[in-house]
Amino acid sequence: MERWLKVCGRQSGLSMGVYAEADGYPLMVVESAFQIPGNPSLYLSAGIHGDEPAPVEALIGWAEENKGHLEAWNLIIFPCLNPWGLERNIRFDAEGRDLNRCYNSRKLPRITSQLDVIKGRRFDVAACLHEDYDARGFYLYEIAAARPHLGEEICRELSRFMTADSRSRIDGHRSRGGLIRRRIRPDMMSGHPESFRLHFHHAARTFTLETPSEKGLDSRISVHREFLRFLSKKPKTRDGNYHGNR
Ligand SMILES: [Zn+2]
Repeated sequence: MERWLKVCGRQSGLSMGVYAEADGYPLMVVESAFQIPGNPSLYLSAGIHGDEPAPVEALIGWAEENKGHLEAWNLIIFPCLNPWGLERNIRFDAEGRDLNRCYNSRKLPRITSQLDVIKGRRFDVAACLHEDYDARGFYLYEIAAARPHLGEEICRELSRFMTADSRSRIDGHRSRGGLIRRRIRPDMMSGHPESFRLHFHHAARTFTLETPSEKGLDSRISVHREFLRFLSKKPKTRDGNYHGNR
């Protein structure tokens, strides 16, 4: 939180707020203080699974590095959705719930408060940052909606920093060069992950990036940072849309 507070301010145009408290920890949101119409909008989140530290560090590292270049974006960032789990290296919350299967539940105040923060908002891109113990390299889910798809280009870019998971099936889904392109329906899973919610209600493009937990922390961090660099360097088009599509 101290590091995020330092990033917030005039130069970055970001401000920080606490939208809920859970398991004895404040849950913070960092966002562009002024949402400029026409600026591309980006939703980023990390740390919903407490045993996945690289994305949390990558997100703050990326923000610190790009402090002076963030005002071109309408950003909303959830830097750490499960701080209790992060400190204990535990995937779940204090009640043993996988929070990333709770996004269609109205019973969890921490989730409903987060959804209240983004209520009615649309994002050009949403990205959820994760890690996976079974992964053999990085892999990326692209929930296909808007074209052109960006997944192949992102995977090519990231494979300069780490090899992609080369399995042809990952987690039951067809994969190629680390990319899993999915079409999803609301009835597919009983408990919805964050990315489902974002896809159905908020975002034209939704990505989930996974890095292999067994690899060195530094290389996992660098893959996530490179992914964030990729998303945030894409120029906006004349009509202000991310790649001209919504
Ligand atoms: Zn995860």
